Amino acid sequence: MTRVFHRHLRSTPPVAVSAAGMRIYDAAGRSYLDASGGAAVSSLGHGHPDVIAAMHAQIDRLPYAHTSFFTSETAERLADELIRTAPEGMSHVYLVSGGSEAVESALKMARQYFVEIGQPQRTHFIARRQSYHGNTLGALAVGGNEWRRAPFAPILVAATHLAPCYPYREQRADETPEQYGLRLAAELDAAIVAQGADSVIAFVAETVGGATAGVLTPVPGYFKAVREVCDKHGVLLILDEVMCGMGRTGTLYASEQEDVVPDLVTIAKGLGGGYQPIGAVLAQRKIVDAMSKGSGFFQHGHTYLGHPVACAAALAVQNVIHRDGLLEKVRADGRALGAMLRVALGGHPNVGDIRGRGFFWGIELVADRASKRPFAPALKVNATIKKDAMARGLLCYPFGGTVDGVHGDHVLLAPPFIASREDLQEITRLLTASIDAVTQAAS
Ligand code: PLP
Repeated sequence: MTRVFHRHLRSTPPVAVSAAGMRIYDAAGRSYLDASGGAAVSSLGHGHPDVIAAMHAQIDRLPYAHTSFFTSETAERLADELIRTAPEGMSHVYLVSGGSEAVESALKMARQYFVEIGQPQRTHFIARRQSYHGNTLGALAVGGNEWRRAPFAPILVAATHLAPCYPYREQRADETPEQYGLRLAAELDAAIVAQGADSVIAFVAETVGGATAGVLTPVPGYFKAVREVCDKHGVLLILDEVMCGMGRTGTLYASEQEDVVPDLVTIAKGLGGGYQPIGAVLAQRKIVDAMSKGSGFFQHGHTYLGHPVACAAALAVQNVIHRDGLLEKVRADGRALGAMLRVALGGHPNVGDIRGRGFFWGIELVADRASKRPFAPALKVNATIKKDAMARGLLCYPFGGTVDGVHGDHVLLAPPFIASREDLQEITRLLTASIDAVTQAAS
């Protein structure tokens, strides 16, 4: 019997009681190797002493102060640190409590920016299919996960959804990756024109697609071309790095690898590493200036903006990442993880694609490799892999199948940055055993 409103109402998950390093332990005494950091959250693993000490010190000094009365030293230090390492031109950081709040805030910032500069007719967002930007209504509106949207579709704000950058399934045989990227950017151009260029607020995209398409890494040149199209029409570019940011792909921001600078970027998950709920929007100076010289106010806000303990945790996470050279480690060990996955699963009859960067990898499962036909959603392949992997003591993040029958089942790996090569080998071994067992039963 449980009184917690769990997402699955007909079953209760195991009770987690403790965690340390790469592992979580449940009340039955079972130990789980965390290969997904929850949902790409636990970048430093569990129980990191530096983060815990920083939180203790903050709670002792100042646990909370509402931002309509005060800012805090800790929030200011975190914002300074985030701006120091931010994409070029970012001037301010809006500190919220998670990813959906960050996306919601970014959408409203973008809208208010145009109101402030005298373009209130801009009311429309353009985003992509098979994307995920959060579960609050604005974030859900720009998200492209049909299953999540369906019950709420009639009450969502207007957004057009274009094709994601998904070479495995959607790049044509007669085009290079670069040509494919340019074709997608041309589709964005056409969609903006069709909508009426002066009515579009922003194009919203995950720099590396995460939870709805299984780690979609963009083709070279795609985002540069997208940036040019946005600039041509005065449309803002909002990059959602809630999942792929904060070092997950081997650079602090995934956009660094695309050589593109967004107008607004959202971060969360790895920002606090799971030690506290925290997210943020980083904004270009022109957006902040428009508001400060205009109404002087961002017409938004939440009770826990800039929460001091969350900021202390995030600051400590950032310090550890830089002090311990974890970005370099993620790049080097990420290449090793990719190689391990390819050796173990590259020839598997039910593995269609293995793709990723850094410590962010997706494995796309198919019933038939030649035709790329997915498994029938009714087989629940991804959910069964999650269950089987947990029984083997492995946490991985599966999705697909029941979400979107056309594009099939995926497994997402996002291990903590502290994972050793032995941990990565163990993750690969256990995951391969699960994929073998479940796909054999489903074939
Ligand atoms: N944006 C992206 C890219 C995400 O992956 C997620 C969560 O998975 C969100 C936004 C929403 O974040 P949260 O679950 O913290 O609200």
